[in-house]
Amino acid sequence: MNIFLLLQMAADAGPDRVGLVCDGRRWTYGELAAAARGAADVITGAGCTHVALLDESSAAAPIALFGAALAGVPYVPLNYRLADEDLGALLARVAPACVIGDVARAERLNADGGHKLFTREAFLEAAEAAAEGASGEEREGEGIAAQIFTSGTTAAPKAALLRHSNLLGYILGTVDFMSADEDDAQLVCVPPYHIAGISALMSSIYSMRRIVMLPAFEPDEWLRLAADEKVSNAFVVPTMLARIIERMEAGVEADLSSLQSIAYGGGRMPPELIERALALFPETNFTNAYGLTETSSTIALLGPEDHRTAFASSDPAVRARLGSVGRPLPTIELEIRDEDGKVLPAGERGEIYVRGEQVSGEYRERSALDAEGWFPTRDAGWLDADGYLFLAGRADDVIVRGGENISPGEIEDVLDSHPAIAESVAVGVPSVEWGEAVGIAVVIRPGHERPSDDELKALIKDRLRSSRVPERIAVVDELPYNEMGKLLRRQVRAMFQDS
Ligand code: ATP
Repeated sequence: MNIFLLLQMAADAGPDRVGLVCDGRRWTYGELAAAARGAADVITGAGCTHVALLDESSAAAPIALFGAALAGVPYVPLNYRLADEDLGALLARVAPACVIGDVARAERLNADGGHKLFTREAFLEAAEAAAEGASGEEREGEGIAAQIFTSGTTAAPKAALLRHSNLLGYILGTVDFMSADEDDAQLVCVPPYHIAGISALMSSIYSMRRIVMLPAFEPDEWLRLAADEKVSNAFVVPTMLARIIERMEAGVEADLSSLQSIAYGGGRMPPELIERALALFPETNFTNAYGLTETSSTIALLGPEDHRTAFASSDPAVRARLGSVGRPLPTIELEIRDEDGKVLPAGERGEIYVRGEQVSGEYRERSALDAEGWFPTRDAGWLDADGYLFLAGRADDVIVRGGENISPGEIEDVLDSHPAIAESVAVGVPSVEWGEAVGIAVVIRPGHERPSDDELKALIKDRLRSSRVPERIAVVDELPYNEMGKLLRRQVRAMFQDS
């Protein structure tokens, strides 16, 4: 089966219903499907092996995604924010591609890659011109719908391959066809090169929720569009939510009465931020979605009811659930394993393994799946007695102090419990004695006094083993995040290397 089917079903069920609002144009499902069929012919005619999007979000994103699907070649949305050198390397890995978007940059970076270049406007015009008379025929390919380069927060970007079967496994397992009301609208503000952007497009189309697309995130614009388009659902990463709340608290007004639900994910949500959000939007349903590129997005959810119960509870164990990523989807098998692959019981920390139709675990270079189809996420975590999943950092972030493995999450949780600390990060810093030791950077809550280094050390010593006590402590105004809300630990580590 081909993901194009999702769009075709929506177009058959409601050809005149508005499917996308972007750049001042309203596209019906019928128009989107026709343009995607036209795009497939344009792509096939160009003889390319990939379709690369080098652009902000626009109508070209869904049309290229579904057009590439029909043409039987992978859709490869690229991070246009990368430095020239990094982007050039990615462009070379997908040659020859139809590159859509920043033609001048693509030309400069990869002049002899054999790419066929289209500006956004030229691509959309060509697709619509080819729509009439387009065959709509599905072309045989390798079965790969999308090739997504991970953002490389821990190592070099990996080319994750998502098969039609993975993406369909996710959508068909989690979304009901045509389940949205005519007025429902999804605000899509995440970059097109992230799995969250792709899954938002597919799930909105299949449920027939109108997509309201923001070319690139900007909080005032987000608030304006949410109000003007009477948006009902939105997905944000935690840093976006923080900026939206800041603007509202600064007096920017927007009527968000239509906003029924906000899903968030992509990176750790600071407990203080979700509490502020719950207080500010008491009527809104919040969902924490945990997932990876390699799993076609969400594998576990903390739903609205859990948010409400945890927020209202004075029982610390129940309240702590606000810091969990909820329970695995019914379609996902999830295990916590130790270093030898042994499955661990509730309460014990290990690496999260998952298995399911939506789990690809396949890269251009190799597959990370084991013989039984389990994918090691490289995320550390644990399950509580009721099956709630708590993340405890990524395997690659572990601090190795004199041979002892220390998860930064356990230190950060203790630091975050201090009333004066808004956010914290623990990383490995060079140590003559131990090879690596613990360094922490903390952000102080406005209006609070900076705790002394001794106080912070004592706090950790009281609650954890002495090997966790930081040797280096830095107070910073803010922690470094990328545009997807991922904490850039590499940059924090570099900060300690330099000083
Ligand atoms: P790379 O693997 O190259 O570093 P990346 O981390 O950006 O790239 P993604 O697939 O975008 O790759 O990110 C997946 C990771 O994001 C997960 O493994 C997890 O660590 C983190 N993450 C995703 N959702 C959540 C969430 N709801 N809460 C906390 N962390 C999350």
